Amino acid sequence: MNYHHGDLNLTDPTRGYLQFVIYTEPRLGVAGGSLNAEVSIERITSLVQEWRGRLERCEPNALHAALVRQHEMPELFYPCVAEDRDSPAAIAGSGCVCLRTFYDPVFGLPVVARHHRSARSGEERWSYNTYAPLELRPDDVFSRFISFGGLFWVQTKDKVLSLIPQRHGRGYELGYRGGGPHALAAYLSQLAATDGKNTAAGASEDETHPAILDWAQSPSSDRDTNTLTLRDLKVMRRS
Ligand SMILES: [Zn+2]
Repeated sequence: MNYHHGDLNLTDPTRGYLQFVIYTEPRLGVAGGSLNAEVSIERITSLVQEWRGRLERCEPNALHAALVRQHEMPELFYPCVAEDRDSPAAIAGSGCVCLRTFYDPVFGLPVVARHHRSARSGEERWSYNTYAPLELRPDDVFSRFISFGGLFWVQTKDKVLSLIPQRHGRGYELGYRGGGPHALAAYLSQLAATDGKNTAAGASEDETHPAILDWAQSPSSDRDTNTLTLRDLKVMRRS
């Protein structure tokens, strides 16, 4: 694992990788990720569909509790109306506002799905909260960056899809001169400089390549869909 944080050893060589440090202040009822960036997914694009297709349902755990507000923690344990019509999450018979807990088996990341089902129309809507990984798996090699539907994704050489590795407090953005595009350009520069091998979040902004920064700051980069391959990034780095 390339991600290092002071004295913390986030890697367990017998298990491959560990990704989390939970931060809590029990007196205030605060629980949250300390290093990991939370990602909220509202728009169900084709990439979101691919990602959610591999999620596995699981019992709620401490990582799920860190993804919801304090008053919602008990609701993680309420069944869906589809499973129990008398659930506290049921509304007017067949409506529902439950939370469902999953994990992503590829990266071990927790996912909380929010279910809205209208009692009147039966219309269903899902949205998701999860954490971005701090880096891809040890042998994963970056192949493609994809900006799509307001989210940033990466795909590995083996076509594994992941939310882009990100560190808490280092939000990525595109299309203007500011901290978000600079943080993203620094990360993409690191990928280009290491042939896609160093996928750890928290890239040094001192190493940002000017051509990649220009791209990240240009208004045209802020289109709804944008893709950059490792090759594209290496070409930009040579310019
Ligand atoms: Zn439900």
